[in-house]
Amino acid sequence: MTATKQKIPGTVSSRSHSGSSSRANPRTRKTRYNPRQKQKGGREKSYRARGITLNAEPYRKTKQYKQHISKSDDTLKIIPLGGLEEVGLNMTVMEYGRDIIIIDMGLQFPDEEMPGIDYVIPNSRYLRDKLDRIRGVIVTHGHMDHIGAIPHHIRVLNNPPIFTGRMTKALIAKRQEEYNNSPRLKINEVQPKDKIKLGAFEIEFIHVCHSIPDALGLAIHTPVGTVVHTGDFKFDQNPIGEDPTDIGHIALIAQNSSKGILALMSDSTDAGQPGFTISESKVRSTFEQIIRNAKGRIIAGTFSSLITRIRHMVEISEKFHKKIAVDGYSMKRNVEIALKMGYIKAKQGTFIDISRVNDYPPEKVIIMCTGAQGEGNAVLMRIANGEHRYIELIKGDTIIFSSSVIPGNERTVQNVKDGLYKKGVHVVHYKMMDVHSGGHAKSEDLKLMLNLVKPKYLIPIHGNHYMLRLHGEIAQELRMPEENIFIAENGSVIEFDKQGGRILNEKVAANYVMVDGLGVGDIGNVVLRERMQMAKDGMFTIIVTIDSKTGEPVGNADLISRGFIYMKNNQELLKQTRQLIRNVIHQKTGGSHAINWEYVRNAIRDEIGQFLFNKTQRRPMVLPVIIEV
Ligand SMILES: [Zn+2]
Ligand SMILES: [Zn+2]
Repeated sequence: MTATKQKIPGTVSSRSHSGSSSRANPRTRKTRYNPRQKQKGGREKSYRARGITLNAEPYRKTKQYKQHISKSDDTLKIIPLGGLEEVGLNMTVMEYGRDIIIIDMGLQFPDEEMPGIDYVIPNSRYLRDKLDRIRGVIVTHGHMDHIGAIPHHIRVLNNPPIFTGRMTKALIAKRQEEYNNSPRLKINEVQPKDKIKLGAFEIEFIHVCHSIPDALGLAIHTPVGTVVHTGDFKFDQNPIGEDPTDIGHIALIAQNSSKGILALMSDSTDAGQPGFTISESKVRSTFEQIIRNAKGRIIAGTFSSLITRIRHMVEISEKFHKKIAVDGYSMKRNVEIALKMGYIKAKQGTFIDISRVNDYPPEKVIIMCTGAQGEGNAVLMRIANGEHRYIELIKGDTIIFSSSVIPGNERTVQNVKDGLYKKGVHVVHYKMMDVHSGGHAKSEDLKLMLNLVKPKYLIPIHGNHYMLRLHGEIAQELRMPEENIFIAENGSVIEFDKQGGRILNEKVAANYVMVDGLGVGDIGNVVLRERMQMAKDGMFTIIVTIDSKTGEPVGNADLISRGFIYMKNNQELLKQTRQLIRNVIHQKTGGSHAINWEYVRNAIRDEIGQFLFNKTQRRPMVLPVIIEV
């Protein structure tokens, strides 16, 4: 056991973002954006030196990719950086000549094999030497899998203007507030049917119906042809509080396109579901039935971003004179925004604070919370485990899981449910009743979209590989030739020119970038995460002295394990770890005179963390402590 005399300073929360990037440029804050006017002076700085809290180590198998793709100018390139091998992480690059636009910048929540990781974002490396060519970022709607990576990418990409709908704008701005030192975003609000020109691209916005207000589809007119991007959508003929997807507009775009629509990029999430989407109106009446019949409290777990769902709950509770308490950080935040913007209307006194739920009789209380996916630190999980401060489950409670299970989360959700059944509460899941109408088009809806747009090519997007395949099969059923259906992967380059379209053999970097929440700014979550991580995999402290003149380590690093490994029996691993620490320091300081200590500390933490994970399949909390001499 290596002893130490040093007190361990609070290295965990000390990762400040280095300044220098809050240079908002008021000159460019205009609604109409002229791409030729700006994008000057954007020299790229080192990603890490800017203090972005990323762990850029590829987590899964590294893919082969090449940075250099054919440079011919009259081709349109579509490069999905994420979203084609998962539900999440949506981000697509479109490139023509010197102009680049980006569609969405989303995150993905980790699956069961990424302990300690808060979320994953797409890799933006491909764009980093093309900053002066980025004309804008278009965001289809406000779900995390479309906006979640904005705080991480936007400043690395030199803060290009964002174009999006009203609600989405508010959600992006709110999320940005949680990041220290982030630049002032240039968000331009657009309406359906608006058209904007960004370099060679003209983008026309289409109203689509989804599970959040102000969702947009896109018609992207390019010199090679028009590409229709559906965003996340469904055809609900009777949605509540908003208009159905604008079928007329879509048909008109297809009709007005002289050569027909070149390609359709369409939502594949529910390609495997037969039939049409259930209307929100139907969901609402199911909710009403459950709430009317419930003898005790109702605890509804859902996605915080399903604003439409939350709106129903509010209206129904008012009808039955019940109170609503909202719990979960993101849920509270979104409800607050939706109330402020008028997307949710509530009478005075309908909402009560979560700490007051026990002041009311059980049959008068509805609790809406996060955690329908069994997320470890979400509220529903804490309630199920008896760890919630105010809510102890009692017989007669009804728990509603009002969201479909994201593939990969099935086991955890089942665990939560088992825990709940043991407590003798009543559990309602969307499979038993229509308590969740997916926000996504099912197979018949996808056919309708294909028939409306009549594209030459189909690029299924937004889904795991099998969902894209199923979507492709649907198109084939409609007699689209197989060679016109591009089942691509993250990092694929799809190229269109006068001759037609193809997927190139080359790929760009699209490996996952892990983000762990340290420094994200939400202390509650951070502390919780740390606690859970330490409880699960222990803690590993590295104390190393570095000579600030040479940048080299002085002596061997002191290593301390708590709850991770038994040091005595792991001498070989410790030896390798010490060697790796030396290498990392040598590499990262490079004999430099001005050592960025933050950067070195992060590098040690990331690389040793990854190394220990590779060796042990455990992810202890790694705390590097650097002593400068
Ligand atoms: Zn969505
Ligand atoms: Zn989505």
